[in-house]
Amino acid sequence: MAPLKGTFHISACPACGSTRIRAVQEDWSDSYAGKRYVVRNLRYFHCAQCGEKVYDPSAMRRIQAASPAFAKLPQTRKTA
Ligand SMILES: [Zn+2]
Repeated sequence: MAPLKGTFHISACPACGSTRIRAVQEDWSDSYAGKRYVVRNLRYFHCAQCGEKVYDPSAMRRIQAASPAFAKLPQTRKTA
């Protein structure tokens, strides 16, 4: 099953199964090793039931690009 580009969608929370999960778009921030970083206008899914956050592949790439935790990892070659 090949994922369709640009059609990532979640209808139920993978953590609690609630259908109250929905897409949001807002500034997203986290901290790593005491260092705070922000991703502007990040689109991701947020579960109103349990607070779980789910990121699609493009959101993950943006987080990884901003995160100091990933910055020092060596570039991995695409095998797929
Ligand atoms: Zn949930």
